[in-house]
Amino acid sequence: MSNFSKILNWQGQRWRWLIPILLVLLFLATLIWLPWQAQRMEATDRQEQLIADTLWVEQAIQFQLNRNEEILRLIGAEIGGSHLSQQSVLERFRTLMKSNHEIQRIILFDENDLVLVSTSDGPLPPKETLIPPRGQSELAHGKTQCLPPFLGRNGKNLLSCHIPLVKDGQRLGSIVISYRLTGILDEMVPWWFAQDNQVSLIDADEKIYADRSAGGSGKNVYTHIRALDLPGTQLLLKTNSNKSEPKLLANLLVLSVVLLSLGLIWSLAALWRDINRRLAAEGALRTQVAFRTAMENSLVTGLRARDMEGRLTYVNPAFCKMIELPAEEIVGNLPPMPYWAPEALAEYRQRFTQLLAGTVPSEGFETIYQRASGERFPVLIYESPLVNENGVQTGWMSSILDISELKRAQELSRQQEEKLHVSARLATMGEIASMLAHELNQPLAAISSYTTGAVNLIRADNSDKELLLQALAKANVQAQRAGQIIRSVHEFVKKREPSREPVSIASVIDGAMPLIDLQAQPFYVAIQLVIAPNLPTVLADRVLLEQVLLNLTRNAIEAMQGNSPARRLLRIVAEMAASDQQPAAHATILVSVIDQGYGIPADVAEKLFSPFFSTKSGGMGMGLKICRTAIEFHGGTLTHQDNPAGGTIFSFALPVTEEARSLAGAPAVRVNA
Ligand code: ADP
Repeated sequence: MSNFSKILNWQGQRWRWLIPILLVLLFLATLIWLPWQAQRMEATDRQEQLIADTLWVEQAIQFQLNRNEEILRLIGAEIGGSHLSQQSVLERFRTLMKSNHEIQRIILFDENDLVLVSTSDGPLPPKETLIPPRGQSELAHGKTQCLPPFLGRNGKNLLSCHIPLVKDGQRLGSIVISYRLTGILDEMVPWWFAQDNQVSLIDADEKIYADRSAGGSGKNVYTHIRALDLPGTQLLLKTNSNKSEPKLLANLLVLSVVLLSLGLIWSLAALWRDINRRLAAEGALRTQVAFRTAMENSLVTGLRARDMEGRLTYVNPAFCKMIELPAEEIVGNLPPMPYWAPEALAEYRQRFTQLLAGTVPSEGFETIYQRASGERFPVLIYESPLVNENGVQTGWMSSILDISELKRAQELSRQQEEKLHVSARLATMGEIASMLAHELNQPLAAISSYTTGAVNLIRADNSDKELLLQALAKANVQAQRAGQIIRSVHEFVKKREPSREPVSIASVIDGAMPLIDLQAQPFYVAIQLVIAPNLPTVLADRVLLEQVLLNLTRNAIEAMQGNSPARRLLRIVAEMAASDQQPAAHATILVSVIDQGYGIPADVAEKLFSPFFSTKSGGMGMGLKICRTAIEFHGGTLTHQDNPAGGTIFSFALPVTEEARSLAGAPAVRVNA
């Protein structure tokens, strides 16, 4: 996926989430706002209700006070008309008081403010609390005047209103009515209102004169103050509801809204988690698929899948490379396949029938395939059933190994091994020669003594033929034994006669290289070849020289096993020997095998070429011995010296052939290692 489309995809995912998130936030905001708004509305409703009720109560009080004043003014008018005696005035006052318990006292004053009639006999409160100062215009016009509340002798706050009695512009006197302020509240405020509200009468400084709170004191949440319309003084009616603010959570709606919101948030979170998990799984799957594809593409093993009918459903690049055909040309095909070699068709068919019948070989089997070019190559095939997630088999999966390289290497190593055996046999010829001499010595000595005995018998003219025959027969037996020994040695050697022919050292090294490489690979030893150009040929047995190279390089590689990887370098140098070391007639080629191994200490150097001398636990101690024999067989020399860079240099010098010497004129070419 390109970066651009990744960004688009990412942004698409973001937008996909943004709208539901915004909607949910809006929903939640509405859910929170609604109960809050409902609460506010309820609070406003309560406040408005309180105001309306307070107004109503104020009106009721006002009405009652006005009514009392009206009645007293009527009585006053009758007094003015001189229709009433003082006694009947008193009775009229008392009648009024009976139906209005809030009235404390009613007093009738004459024009000089002297008491004419009073509803109680008790001493008068101070005059200034009853009669406003004279000279006020209101008095002149007969208007009622109330005085500020005062504390009466009974310990109650009292309010007095002064009603002047005027007739034809002349002052006749006045009536003063005193109210108990608590009485006003008790009598004039309806019980249901007092139950829900604390009602008080206060002045402008909030001083409380009367208070009624039947249902408990007010909560100061909903309050209202209204002035009573009393001429001359200011008295306020204060109501304070004993209801507190409406409770949010007590509201069932709020509770359900909160639960709903929680549920919504939870389900959204679960959805979010689920989607994230899916996205993560998808991502992991994509990575897995990419990983598997990379793995399949990097495999050198061919992979091939087939369905239950044998139709090819998948091949990996390694398989296509092997058979030199593109996947498009073979996937979907039914047998016979284009990579089947015609000569092996019968075998394939038989195997295929077995496979269809369900017999899958437990081990790999070898067969031949052909490339598009027609070239045949050996393959090793492993089959296994393909099973889907429900456990049902849907086909077969095979892995195919191209084993042509393996086969070639096996063949090469077999051949080299054979050569090695032959060379070893040959090289031990020297050993065998001494053994032969020792073995032959006995029968020859015996033959010699038997024949000497026979000669002596004949010379002595001894006619005992029997004795003569015995000696000759014994000599014959010994001669046969000697023949037997020689035949067995001949048998050993005759398998391959060393042949000497002109060979180039470069081709000998080339021939040995695959095996040297094979030896070096397991130990990660690097090999450096320095072969001087135009080297003359040598008269030699190629196989023996290869054997020598193999032995020397094997020792060199083994000596470097303990080295750090940087110091695992094996150098093979072929050059002309320095001409100053020999006359031109004896031109020789010098081949050196140079290692950086542990070197050869003096005590080891002494026994180096002795047969069966080895410092290695599994060593045979014959390698160097065979090498020296082989080189000397060619008229050359095998020597060793310490490598100045650490390690050892083994070198063998071989004389160049006569023809080569004459052709090349023997100018030695030397390449510095
Ligand atoms: P083997 O390989 O069985 O040990 P060889 O005749 O090849 O027999 O070698 C004899 C001994 O010479 C070895 O065991 C080893 O100690 C020593 N030797 C041979 N080549 C080297 C070398 N390149 N570096 C150090 N020591 C060597």
